[in-house]
Amino acid sequence: MAPSVKDYYEILGIDKKASQDEIKKAFRKLARKYHPDLNPGDKNSEQKFKELNEAYEVLGDEKKRAEYDQYGRSPFESGGPGFDFRTYTSGDRFDFGGFGDIFGDLFGAGAGHEAFDLKGHDLVMGIELSLEEAFSGITKPIAFNREVSCMECKGTGAETYQQCEKCKGIGKISTSKGFFKMSQHCDSCGGSGKKVTKACKKCGGRGAILHTENITVKIPAGADTGSRVKVRGMGGAGHGNGPSGDLQIEITVKPHPLFTRKGDDLFIDVPVTFGEASLGAKIEVPTIDGVAAMTLPAGTQGGQKFKLSGKGFPSSRTGRKGDQYVNIKISIPKNVPERSRPVIQEIENLYRESPRKGMARK
Ligand SMILES: [Zn+2]
Ligand SMILES: [Zn+2]
Repeated sequence: MAPSVKDYYEILGIDKKASQDEIKKAFRKLARKYHPDLNPGDKNSEQKFKELNEAYEVLGDEKKRAEYDQYGRSPFESGGPGFDFRTYTSGDRFDFGGFGDIFGDLFGAGAGHEAFDLKGHDLVMGIELSLEEAFSGITKPIAFNREVSCMECKGTGAETYQQCEKCKGIGKISTSKGFFKMSQHCDSCGGSGKKVTKACKKCGGRGAILHTENITVKIPAGADTGSRVKVRGMGGAGHGNGPSGDLQIEITVKPHPLFTRKGDDLFIDVPVTFGEASLGAKIEVPTIDGVAAMTLPAGTQGGQKFKLSGKGFPSSRTGRKGDQYVNIKISIPKNVPERSRPVIQEIENLYRESPRKGMARK
């Protein structure tokens, strides 16, 4: 799914300070208007409805909302944070997933039930990189625990079960309300069509067990603090036949002793001597992946800035490189040895023009 560019708050037409209640209300109102069952074949409504779901999925969850407020949508992700929207065509039965409670009052029967096939939750894991690692990109082995579907019971949590009586094992119940004809998950068995009679011994009826994963993750070049890399399917186990959640790797780039980074540009202070600055010189300047030769023109001033084009970070969007900015510092000796003082005095005598000329006040 192409990432939508609109702000989630804008999509729901609410203020950044909106309460959960206001968010829910706004979502309900708009979801009613753009629901695909009410607008069959209308691509525009379908798109709007998807956006609404995406926005609500994030803003309706305090944790995801806080992350969104802080980081927005990372360029490293293809969709929104942890969001996976199933595509559907008009006329298909729309699966409410976790939104069952929201639509309960609109569609009547079955309100409050939990849909059976749900995607597992996302795991978030922090990773620290040096500036050099962030620059070049890195492949890193990581180990972590996650819940996976229990093989013994195939995620059902049951060793033995019987057919659900209410839905006769179908897992769905048809209801009609006005001109809506809906089929919904059976609230008695949660949509599985089965009732557990004896819990699985291996997972204790949970349907999932803890498993240690050893995987290698690839952090692309150009990562910055707050960037996220998504590893699909490496999150918590799904419910029923739902897919696993994703693993979100959140990057922190450690401060560097020489460089400061702003977006794709790097900044560095480079000290030069009075002689180099006044006479001009060829100097070597550290860069993130080596050194660069630079020519100081005669008469270079302290605080003067030079740009080394293309010596910055690769943009995570375009791959184009940023620049490095060199800030010149004139290095003045703190302690002048006695024998050097006459030489400096000599320069002072020859160099008659006062740098404070023109600053005189009447
Ligand atoms: Zn089991
Ligand atoms: Zn049932």
